[in-house]
Amino acid sequence: MDLANYNLNEKLINDSFVNLELKGNGSSGTIAMGYINFLFETKKVNKRRISQEKVDEEIIKFNDVKIQLEDEFQQISKTLNYDYDKIAEIYQVNLMLLNDPVIIDEITEKIKSLYSSDYSVEFVFNKFIKQLKSSNDLLLKERAESIDEIKNLLINKLTESKKVDIKENDLVVTKNIDTRSIYYLKESKAAGFVCEDGGLTSHAAIVARAFNITSIINVKNLIRCCKKGEFAIIDSIDNKFIINPSNDLINFYEVKIEEIEKNNIKLSKILGNESKTIDNKSVKIKSNLDNLIELNEYNLINSDGIGLVRTEILLNTKEIFSEKIQIEKYLEIAKKVYPKEITFRIFDIGSDKYPDGFSFKEENPALGVRGIRFLLKNITIFKTQISALLKSSELKNIKILIPMITNINDVLLTLQAIEEVKYNLIENKISFDKDIKIGFMIETLSAAFLASKISKYADFISIGTNDLSQYLFAADRTNNDCIEYLDNNSPILFGVINDIVSKCKMNNKEVSICGEIAYDLKYTQLLIGTGVDELSLSYSNIPLIKNELINSNYEDCRLKLKEFIEKEN
Ligand code: PEP
Ligand code: MG
Repeated sequence: MDLANYNLNEKLINDSFVNLELKGNGSSGTIAMGYINFLFETKKVNKRRISQEKVDEEIIKFNDVKIQLEDEFQQISKTLNYDYDKIAEIYQVNLMLLNDPVIIDEITEKIKSLYSSDYSVEFVFNKFIKQLKSSNDLLLKERAESIDEIKNLLINKLTESKKVDIKENDLVVTKNIDTRSIYYLKESKAAGFVCEDGGLTSHAAIVARAFNITSIINVKNLIRCCKKGEFAIIDSIDNKFIINPSNDLINFYEVKIEEIEKNNIKLSKILGNESKTIDNKSVKIKSNLDNLIELNEYNLINSDGIGLVRTEILLNTKEIFSEKIQIEKYLEIAKKVYPKEITFRIFDIGSDKYPDGFSFKEENPALGVRGIRFLLKNITIFKTQISALLKSSELKNIKILIPMITNINDVLLTLQAIEEVKYNLIENKISFDKDIKIGFMIETLSAAFLASKISKYADFISIGTNDLSQYLFAADRTNNDCIEYLDNNSPILFGVINDIVSKCKMNNKEVSICGEIAYDLKYTQLLIGTGVDELSLSYSNIPLIKNELINSNYEDCRLKLKEFIEKEN
């Protein structure tokens, strides 16, 4: 980034608001500076009645605007290449919703009942958004997000709200942002954007991460605190947005940005090194894979393979029911990753993950029918997936992982079902990897106690610390009010992890850790100290974690862990 572009000496400092700091959720893990610009000057929609003579005119206006928007989405979809596969899908869904005949008919009817086109759009879309938001189905809730986005885009066009010209290095401030505008920010090389609304898993956040745009979302009181042209900093690492920073703070961030850039160059040089400590303890550093965007060559070269594919996130409902589509997808991915290994976790449906069409309700979903429990009760889905994975295993680089194990009976039922699928393939003379490795996740407290027994039946073990801490500390991982109880910095948690690893190693089984704890540099040495064979994490932190590994001494890590576990809690 060229800091000279900012002309820092000329920046205006408003005395009353120097270093005004607003908290939000960093969604990109980067830092950016720039002058504030607003994305839209949106006009308010009033409940406006029209005369009978105006009806046709307003319907035509609505249709024209719809076609314009359709063209824009088509253009964006066309320009997105394979790397943006999943993102292109989001734009496709928007296109589909824009052409939903039920919505279009209702809007037309509303205009015919003598309301303006902008009010009719707002009224009808709000009705659908309300219905979808009240649903328990995560996918329908997500649809509400897309519909809201289209509503705002249509209204902006109908009210001729002025779209502000975004210049290179502008820092865009907005109430909410749509995926189309994020594409324009990327094209105009804006420094980043800040949003008053939005969640980390919203489409806007996903698209921003995929396009590598610095952003921070969910910043309360944002709009009323910002003025156009003010200088500001997005610190998406420490989750804050600073308006009118003092010269000292700007200097601090300039140094920080330079350090990050230098560090990134340094880190990129160690990526080719073998993943082992100074005293030769090997710990593979693999990446987790939730979508195809993460499967680009850069990530594959830099990691030791894929340690966790969350297949319930990777596939949509149609794909979950189709063996053919699953084979195509698994094969494509396995080929890309080859000769490195890839661990596909079978569908972990239930609790916080319900794909479209699986919206059965449970009183306590985290303690309900999730993961292997769901699959054993829906054996056709289970066997279809196992069959698809086996049929995709010809390169012999696929491993299969089973989530949510709590007892030996489920381990035995799982292995028996897999044997039945294998037998069926052999009967039908279909080739597959006969030595395919089957692993079990240890992510419940009962499984932790049973680690020794479970690992006897397993080819490998993977510790899911996200759920392990949820069940260990009795704190719902989806409930923000419980966050302080989900304490990764806990000697108890590390005691349990260490115990699991020791029990599995006594049976000579490889152990991996794939929860978010593996992503956090603070814990790398403690995790290495457990004797674990593999860490699997989101690819963006692989350089940092690998750097820590190759500069650590295994024996020191063991001592550090021992001291940590013995600490008072
Ligand atoms: C875990 O529980 O740590 C894990 C990796 O699985 P998920 O977050 O998908 O439940
Ligand atoms: Mg889990």
